[in-house]
Amino acid sequence: MGISDSLNDVVTTKLSFAINWGRANSVWPMPFGVACCAIEMMAAFMPKYDASRFGSEVLKFSPRQSDLLIVSGRISLKMMPVLQRIWEQMPEPKWCISMGACASSGGVFDTYALIQGIDQFIPVDAYMPGCPPRPEAFVDALMAIQEKARHGKASSDNFVSEDASKDPSLSPAFRSPDAYYKC
Ligand code: SF4
Repeated sequence: MGISDSLNDVVTTKLSFAINWGRANSVWPMPFGVACCAIEMMAAFMPKYDASRFGSEVLKFSPRQSDLLIVSGRISLKMMPVLQRIWEQMPEPKWCISMGACASSGGVFDTYALIQGIDQFIPVDAYMPGCPPRPEAFVDALMAIQEKARHGKASSDNFVSEDASKDPSLSPAFRSPDAYYKC
């Protein structure tokens, strides 16, 4: 095939499609591993499960350079403001995976000291059931995030209501865990 033949092949697309395609295939995770679930998260990044296949092998450990927050493990009342701060430091568009029963619902720890579901304070795009979930479940959640990114969607889009845009203190993202959990 000569150069003139290849010039006849024209591909057209929308800019938003191309940007979303690029984002979906280069999701950079910010791992927030605080308990046993984090071991399974680490396994998901090892060669056997190979997150590189999805363009997600770059763990930045810096919220400003990440667009996927992975919360794996139980989150205490004292730790939640730190997690909220990290979430706020991440640039839009951004996504969040709640890994395991503890992050999603408090798991077996139905106590006053632990957050009974991080989605009371930050938006979650994919929940992973299990105690702990296996790395295959993590790959599944990552693919769900990619699907959202491909369609230009993120839960954080709807998380801040119109009222909260005027007054950030009304947003769950600025909710104080201490005040919200009255013992
Ligand atoms: S869900 Fe299970 S494995 Fe994960 S942090 Fe909680 S107790 Fe540990």
